[in-house]
Amino acid sequence: MAEPVLPARLAWAEGLPLNLPAPLLRLLESPGLPDDEIGLRDAAMALRISAAFTNTPPASSRLPVSYQAVPGKLRRIVANAMGRAYRCRQSAWARFPGWPLDLSADIAADLAGVRTTTFARTPVLVTHDIDSPEGLRNLRDMFLPLEEAAGARSAAYIVPCAWDVDEGLTREVLARGHEIGVHGYDHANRTAFAPPDERRNRLKAGHQFARAHGAVGYRAPSLLRTAALIEDLQSLYRYDSSIPTSGGAFPTPNNGCASARPWRFGRLWELPLTMPRDGSLRFLGYSPAEIGALWRDVAARIARSGGLVCLLTHCEAGFSGNSKMLAQYKSLLEWIAGESQYEYLRPLGLLDRLDAVDS
Ligand SMILES: [Zn+2]
Repeated sequence: MAEPVLPARLAWAEGLPLNLPAPLLRLLESPGLPDDEIGLRDAAMALRISAAFTNTPPASSRLPVSYQAVPGKLRRIVANAMGRAYRCRQSAWARFPGWPLDLSADIAADLAGVRTTTFARTPVLVTHDIDSPEGLRNLRDMFLPLEEAAGARSAAYIVPCAWDVDEGLTREVLARGHEIGVHGYDHANRTAFAPPDERRNRLKAGHQFARAHGAVGYRAPSLLRTAALIEDLQSLYRYDSSIPTSGGAFPTPNNGCASARPWRFGRLWELPLTMPRDGSLRFLGYSPAEIGALWRDVAARIARSGGLVCLLTHCEAGFSGNSKMLAQYKSLLEWIAGESQYEYLRPLGLLDRLDAVDS
């Protein structure tokens, strides 16, 4: 059989790995118009959501004590040993979405003629999950200066109810033009799976922090998210950014939306986390130089697809708050600043634009 020929609107997808539902694969192979356009559109949209939620709690959310009580160093030693073994078994944890980047849902949408949000100039969102007082201090001392020198402003999602958040630091972050968002409740990885009343109480407590800091965005701890959680977020936030494009092995194998384009759950915008995360990469044994090279490669492929670049780094020394990772981060920020294809935005700024064209 001859190789299927990609339609012109899919030229950006040339050479990318692909996971498509059967009806869409048949469309690729058959010339002419599809018989069932609505069925094809539904199949394309169903693909985006098919692995978007983590419906099974990972072991860490079922422990009797918060898993953060295990000393960080011990957690990292165990994690590093597991990671090296994991890297060899990618076919088990990245069947769909593939890893480190799978844009099958965007390919499916373009193939089926679904209207999606794309960008001529690629928005770049640099974001941080702030899991500890160390993370917040490092954000101010190490990350913000690099971002500001490159003309970027970031978004930091702070755990609101686990430790004393230094109000002087949060005020400074905001005063320097950066954005603050909410990172769950206490990072015990329970909110997404809690009974409805408990889930809402945790979200409400976190939202008090949001109101005090002008936060309109939510990032789920460990990216654990369920349809019920997203439903509850709709009345509290303007956007969520908890669904990775290609989640890889974490928080559960084979998770992600396979899309780098924003979309809506009701009124709530979903800004997918499109870049491979520092935690996963370090866990899998990638060196800082390999991480820097992979980030550029993935960003370039996303830019060609019309999607957005959304990068998550953690500011603690065990993740990206160390000299080798910061050097890679600085180099990425400068490379993006020097390429006219990209444009730094805060999520808030992107939302204003999205709402202006799709209200
Ligand atoms: Zn976190």
